[in-house]
Amino acid sequence: MRARMAVRTVEIGSPGWAAPMMPSDAEPELPLAKELRRVLGPRARIIWRGAELDLYARDQADIPESLRRMLIRTTPDVVVQPETVEDVANVVTAAYDLGIPVIPRGAASFPLGGAVPTMGGVVIDLSAMRRIHAIDKERILADVEAGVRWSTLQEVLRGDGLTLRTYPSSWFSTVGGWVATGGYGINSLKFGHLSKNVKALQVVTPTEGVWWVDEGHKDFPLYFGTEGQLGLVTRVVLKIRLPPKSSEPRLLQFTEAQEAFDFAKDLLAV
Ligand SMILES: Cc1cc2nc3c(=O)[nH]c(=O)nc-3n(C[C@H](O)[C@H](O)[C@H](O)COP(=O)(O)OP(=O)(O)OC[C@H]3O[C@@H](n4cnc5c(N)ncnc54)[C@H](O)[C@@H]3O)c2cc1C
Repeated sequence: MRARMAVRTVEIGSPGWAAPMMPSDAEPELPLAKELRRVLGPRARIIWRGAELDLYARDQADIPESLRRMLIRTTPDVVVQPETVEDVANVVTAAYDLGIPVIPRGAASFPLGGAVPTMGGVVIDLSAMRRIHAIDKERILADVEAGVRWSTLQEVLRGDGLTLRTYPSSWFSTVGGWVATGGYGINSLKFGHLSKNVKALQVVTPTEGVWWVDEGHKDFPLYFGTEGQLGLVTRVVLKIRLPPKSSEPRLLQFTEAQEAFDFAKDLLAV
């Protein structure tokens, strides 16, 4: 599936917008980092030592010491911050050829170690892939890269008189990260599971390269909640909506859970 949505393009960051993170002295690069630099080119953002690398040995939460002892190596060998899907595909292929594990990472808001290595390897930090490719006002769709944050997207949509259908409780997390874990979020009562609010996904795998899977594909639901095991999500075409005409918070109290469910069901039918 190819998304054809050249309606409006908003660029947040662009390739080469910041200086590459390279060692500043003469210390030779780790062979793996060297190989990735050969594959990705001299401007690639590759982290292979120092305190910055240590940041990737954890997510939002500390890994408990007992668990850390069971895991083999939580510090990655190398972190790459690709800016294009081609670079993601090149890293995945290189790691696959070298037999090295790959760990995708969004905003690392998942506090149970999902984005943390267990055997070293290459962390692919997708947070630099944050372009909003198109907002299609006619079809009410947003075509965004995996590293776009929900809060950023909501701001951009608001400027266009649109809004998200649903979003996760971690407002700062990435669109790709929630596809990989999620989920039900804010407004799910009305709009359902995240998979019902996505039209298509761009995915990278070591064997298939870059490809699109859309909502009609039988495997489409499998990409939600499998945390990157079926491939890295690099781009998401989201269903969005017009904002409600008005919105007013109410506090309701129920004595039984069933009463609350029945009320919510009746409300949806209105
Ligand atoms: C099983 C599970 C269910 C969850 N369900 C909900 C929910 O229903 N509602 C809710 O609000 N929050 C839910 N969360 C919390 C959720 O992790 C965060 O809300 C957030 O959306 C994750 O995004 P992130 O960018 O921080 O991802 P990270 O914390 O960086 O990564 C989370 C996981 O996804 C993988 N991953 C990250 N980006 C990609 C990508 N682009 N392609 C492939 N894999 C990737 C990582 O390797 C890691 O395993 C759930 C978490 C887990 C573990």
